[in-house]
Amino acid sequence: MDYRTLGIHHITAITSDPQKNLDFYEGFLGQRLIKKTVNFDDPSAYHLYYADAIGTPGTVLTFFYWAGIPKREKGSGEVGSIYYSISEDSIQYWRDRIVSFNVPFSEEVLPFGEKVLKVSDPDGLEIGLVATNVKNSIQPWEDGPVPKDHVLNGFYGALLHLPGHEDINDILENGLGYEKIATTNEITRYQALSWPGRYIATKITPKLPPARQGAGSVHHIAFQASDDTMLQALQFQVGAVGYQTTPLIDRFYFHASYFMTPANILFELSTNDIGFIIDESVAELGEHLQLPPKFEPYRNQIEASIIPLSLPRYKNNSY
Ligand code: ZN
Repeated sequence: MDYRTLGIHHITAITSDPQKNLDFYEGFLGQRLIKKTVNFDDPSAYHLYYADAIGTPGTVLTFFYWAGIPKREKGSGEVGSIYYSISEDSIQYWRDRIVSFNVPFSEEVLPFGEKVLKVSDPDGLEIGLVATNVKNSIQPWEDGPVPKDHVLNGFYGALLHLPGHEDINDILENGLGYEKIATTNEITRYQALSWPGRYIATKITPKLPPARQGAGSVHHIAFQASDDTMLQALQFQVGAVGYQTTPLIDRFYFHASYFMTPANILFELSTNDIGFIIDESVAELGEHLQLPPKFEPYRNQIEASIIPLSLPRYKNNSY
């Protein structure tokens, strides 16, 4: 194992309501909608990207919208929770903000000691805000609804619920270059090279039923490769531990390759070297519907078929 991923690149989940989704992630959590596009495999459906001001890898949460999709059934074999970092000095700010938005929440302590505020998005996806002073290089969104000192500092990590013996330890350590750094009876924490998005934790949940994907599920989780050369090296390492990756796919904002893990969680490898400013200026990120060149001839039909979205009104504490 010679190559180590830098950490989580993006996480993609599923929503049944893009307006509620936008109001929650941008209006409440203060993540910037940096890209409004369509699913490259299904152009009738939105693909929304939320991140810091510029889409730094490790801050990017994206959603596929599928109308009428049934709700997820929680279980084993899925990403159970997503965690963002907040400053230790921001916990009171976020407690107050959560209460003022009437969002149900709980305060917990992670197995390795960090305080976390847990909320669920409108589709039931669990989001934790972890109080931590790790140093994240992100670009705060200065025009957003959350003051710069309190913004989410990108992903802290993600928790994978695994059925047990199909553990993906080998993929994480030998395929992707994660380092196992801590373990309890049921939870193991792995770290990649850098923040944001450095941690992956696994939890063995043999008593849970198999998860069924739906609204509120994570669809896949993507790991950073700095460029195509590193992506190919990670493909090779993943192949050497027994998993076949797809050929490199052009996702316009990055190059990608996918493989299914034995726990039925889809992993992706994604490159960092293209980014989200390829088709919009930093000032205009997220404002216009962006289509990849192959769909541009069909813009009129696509725009007519998707429901319009309005940006949240930041002064109004509701969504
Ligand atoms: Zn992806």
